[in-house]
Amino acid sequence: MAIKMFLPAELIKKKRAGEEHSQQEIDFLIQSFTDGGLPDYQMSAWLMAVFFKGLNSAEMTYLTQAMLYSGRMLDFSDLKNSMSKIDKHSTGGVGDKTSLIIAPIVASCGIAVPMISGRGLGHTGGTLDKLESIPGFRTQLELNEFTDLIKTYGLAFAGQTAEICPADRKIYALRDVTGTVESIPLIVASIMSKKLAEGIDGLVMDVKVGSGAFMKTQEQAVQLARQLISVGRQSGKKMAAIISNMNQPLGRFVGNSLEVEEAIAILKQTSCRRQPLSALKDTEELSLILAAHMIFLSGVASSFEEGNNLARQALMSGAAFELFDKISYAQGGRLSELPVHQEQFSIRSSQSGYIAHVDCEKIGLAAIHLGSGRRLTSDVITPTAGLELHCKIGEKIEKGQILYTLYFEKRADLSLTQNLLMEATTISEKKPQPFELVIEQNLEGNL
Ligand code: URA
Repeated sequence: MAIKMFLPAELIKKKRAGEEHSQQEIDFLIQSFTDGGLPDYQMSAWLMAVFFKGLNSAEMTYLTQAMLYSGRMLDFSDLKNSMSKIDKHSTGGVGDKTSLIIAPIVASCGIAVPMISGRGLGHTGGTLDKLESIPGFRTQLELNEFTDLIKTYGLAFAGQTAEICPADRKIYALRDVTGTVESIPLIVASIMSKKLAEGIDGLVMDVKVGSGAFMKTQEQAVQLARQLISVGRQSGKKMAAIISNMNQPLGRFVGNSLEVEEAIAILKQTSCRRQPLSALKDTEELSLILAAHMIFLSGVASSFEEGNNLARQALMSGAAFELFDKISYAQGGRLSELPVHQEQFSIRSSQSGYIAHVDCEKIGLAAIHLGSGRRLTSDVITPTAGLELHCKIGEKIEKGQILYTLYFEKRADLSLTQNLLMEATTISEKKPQPFELVIEQNLEGNL
């Protein structure tokens, strides 16, 4: 269909003035940016205008659709026994490796999980970067291969390609480096365009809130959850959402191959480096909760509790690990060659007390300065870079005990990292309130 032309600078000024765009204007911006006609500097300026002025619900739907139709949609009409197709997506956190655990758990329960993920964004990590730390693991799949893998194994992990939501891929990379990540309409359109392209029946959203999340307050997180649910439902999808606590990193490791190690330890029910399995229980618990919601949403379980039992069985029996091993192999990954760098530098506590508070965003940034993420779109990630948390909120630490272990290669910015981590950690004599992992859960999505 021929696209109506506009002057980009006029559209930027229109949004800067807080005025409403028509569907044709949004289609023009997205199509011309995807084709390469609209340069990065104009798209960046428009994204910043959206960041400050927002989009109303109609504009958000137009943006989601324009991004969705920038590529193709998956077709699973010939999937065996009309299996349910359910995915989960998180709004972005630090140390969140749950997708690697959840996808094989849910697929082991007979539900198809077509997972299209993103890369690290801002201070948060991305599933694609984590998977690509496994030598040989291919996430840039042709659509046919992606659908074939799902038909064979019940799951597959892929990134947006030229075929799937290419507009999101380009916009996401630009937002990452232009300070335009924390915008509800941009997050909704980014997530929902990818998820609608998957041809799923239902979606479970893990909306993160707290210092390490893009939404810093519960009010913002609930608003984001509502918008995601509304756009999903308008497109006929079953939706559920939980609000989870990102006031500290999830689990004990932050950084790509380190997080894969932690996910594998949970799938195999073993320790991870010096961390016993019990120290990884927040990652395991959140994975099981999200998996249970997916299983319930699919109709395979008739209640959340039944979903939880099925998820636990798939994990404890080793079925989920077996499937993760198979899909890694099928996508070219050599799990046995996962690089395991040894510790390089420890930061010790200068006082005794309880970990009372951490600034989770600073921890995410510290990991990026070690090389686990990008500061510029052109930056190359060091797959083994990152950090290990020895103490989490509520735990007691003695003076001189190790707080963080850092993993890095030569070009890491060590002094910046150390300063960030010291600033991020508050130790107090008083034991803090217990840390609440999940703040709100709602099976229906009527938050
Ligand atoms: N995850 C996404 O896919 N997009 C965003 O904008 C934020 C989190």
